[in-house]
Amino acid sequence: MELSPIILAQNLKAEAEKFLAGPGNHNGHPTDPRQRAFGEPIFGYARASDPIWATFKKSVDLACLTPVEAFGNVYPDADLERLSTLVFVLPQTTQTMKEQNQARLWPAEGWARSRGSHQKTVDGLALYLLNFLKSLKILAVIPDLLPVWKTLPSSSYGITSLWSHRHAGFAAGLGTFGLCDGLITEVGKAHRMGSLIINHRLPITPRSYGDDEFHQHCLWFNSGSCGLCVTRCPAGAISLQGHDKVKCSDYLKSTTPYIATHWPDMAGTYGCGLCQSRVPCAVRTPPKVTRS
Ligand code: SF4
Ligand code: SF4
Repeated sequence: MELSPIILAQNLKAEAEKFLAGPGNHNGHPTDPRQRAFGEPIFGYARASDPIWATFKKSVDLACLTPVEAFGNVYPDADLERLSTLVFVLPQTTQTMKEQNQARLWPAEGWARSRGSHQKTVDGLALYLLNFLKSLKILAVIPDLLPVWKTLPSSSYGITSLWSHRHAGFAAGLGTFGLCDGLITEVGKAHRMGSLIINHRLPITPRSYGDDEFHQHCLWFNSGSCGLCVTRCPAGAISLQGHDKVKCSDYLKSTTPYIATHWPDMAGTYGCGLCQSRVPCAVRTPPKVTRS
């Protein structure tokens, strides 16, 4: 008998928690095996047939993959009727945020370590869930690990890619975009994300913010206040007009020597994330400001 959507979702969450309690979620600290890269995950689910995917294609880039296109890239003959997208959010740990809140120019150690562990933990979790689904004979794909995945130059965004976890997170009811481009979720925007496209029905997460409220959780857009991510950015990559991905990317590259000098075991890692700390949307969706 086919697993019910709710039972499958519960099993996926339990499997994720099992993975994250193990060595796959260690942040690579050379002497402390207890340090985790990320905290407790949150999950959201969207239907692959949701018209929101076509909206993204038009508003971001026609080349961006919809879940149906990404899944069909691997399984062109599959029955796509029941296709769902799972998106997970892995928040930074409380300890990392404590350190990162003090950072002014360069990332704190915990932040740099979670960035360095990204592949092991985020991709590791996605692959672990893929194998779990395989054990249940359910087909799934990880869109950003497909051989066709690539980044693209974009006239509107500077850089884009064939699959955006943040857009998938918006579709899956997890949150809306901030001035800095991060996805502001119930656990804030200091996180990493991953997605899977699964050939099984899953309990769809409603978008409490509606389909065209792309910035509802950001205080700049909903109340005309805050703007703190602008002043947190040491690269001048955020302004009241939005996020300059090219400037941000250049600054990220410039952090490599700092990280290698301070924590030689992480040579080659880069990271910043200052705009994701010491701001009201870092670890929660901030309440709207009401003016009297
Ligand atoms: S720091 Fe303020 S302006 Fe920037 S994304 Fe968060 S809520 Fe919006
Ligand atoms: S990651 Fe760093 S450089 Fe990029 S926008 Fe945020 S603060 Fe600026």
